[in-house]
Parts: sequence; C-alpha cells; structure tokens
Amino acid sequence: MCDGQSIENSKYLKTLILNSEQDTKALAEQLATLPLTGSVWLAGDLGAGKTTLTRYWLQALGHTGAVKSPTYTLVEPYSIHRKDGSTKPVYHADLYRLQDPEELSFIGFDEYLDEPEALVIIEWASRADSYLPPPTLFIDMTQSVSDDNDTEARQVHLRVSKAGQAQGLDLSQLSI
Ligand code: ADP
Ligand code: MG
Repeated sequence: MCDGQSIENSKYLKTLILNSEQDTKALAEQLATLPLTGSVWLAGDLGAGKTTLTRYWLQALGHTGAVKSPTYTLVEPYSIHRKDGSTKPVYHADLYRLQDPEELSFIGFDEYLDEPEALVIIEWASRADSYLPPPTLFIDMTQSVSDDNDTEARQVHLRVSKAGQAQGLDLSQLSI
C-alpha cells in the first residue's frame, strides 16, 4: 500500500534536491503560495541556506525591503501588504544565540506565536524546542557533498506536523 515513493513524497512529506540558489528561490516562491500560519522550524547547519530560503520566501510573500539575518536581534518582524489589501504578519527568528529559552518570554515571543494570521519562521528552534509550541511545518536543509564540488546543491526535507495536517496543509504540489 505504501511504497518508498509514496512514503517519501506524500501530502505530508517531501524531499527535494536544490541544485542552485535559483532552485531555492523557486521553492520559496512555492512555499509562499501555501496557506501557512503558525510556525515553521527551519533546521540545518550553519551555511545550509536557512536564511537564504527565508529571504526569498519573504520576498515571494510581497516584502520589498531588506531582509536582515536576526542572529543578534533573535527576531525580525515583517508586516507584508498583500494584493487583497490585507496585511500578513511574518516573524523571522534565529535562536542560534539564545542562551536560555526564558529569553523568549522577555521579548514577547509568545505573543507573535499567538497572533491568529501570523507566520513565524524559526531557525535553530532546537535551542528552545521544549519551550515552543509544535510547528506547522518542519523544513530540514542539508548542504550536499558532491564529487564535483557543487557548493550550491542542497537537499531539503519537508514534513507537515499533526497541527499542519489539521490545517489541511498539503505539500504534493511542491516540485523543483
Ligand atoms: P544559514 O542561515 O543556514 O546559516 P545562509 O542562508 O546564511 O545559511 O547561507 C547560505 C549560503 O550559501 C549563502 O551564502 C548562499 O548564497 C549560499 N548558497 C549557495 N547555494 C545555495 C542554495 N542552493 N540555497 C541556499 N543558499 C545557497
Ligand atoms: Mg541563518
């Protein structure tokens, strides 16, 4: 009933190979079309491309200004004006430098997570995983090691959580 293909690439699981930063941009553009609220945990080593993916994602959502890495500020807020006239709050967090999950309550992180329409994209959520509510979507990025020194190749695993499944999130249209 479930062969390898359907396990790896179902509505809720997807593995993609990104051969270039252009592919990362293409993935970001597709992610921007998903009806996503709640949080997305973006995992992967330093340099895997988490911030780069987020930058393209914010731009695809309609953000036009700069996208700074929130390494020192922990969170960068964005208020994105959509074509229908509404505003989408998006928060980009990077918890790499978090010393203690308690810091998140000092900066009011819970309130971002509680905003009904907000999307909260979190790099290094593992620094506070027991403190954070479960995400809607997990994205893992890995820098591929290839013989021809292809430094742009990345492997990306996407997984919809139980919460995301309850929201009806479906990854089957994603393709590179
Ligand atoms: P992270 O946030 O995971 O630490 P960054 O996005 O800051 O990583 O850095 C990734 C670096 O790799 C950037 O310099 C980016 O230009 C480069 N890069 C090369 N190929 C890709 C790709 N396919 N996807 C994302 N980044 C890439
Ligand atoms: Mg980063």
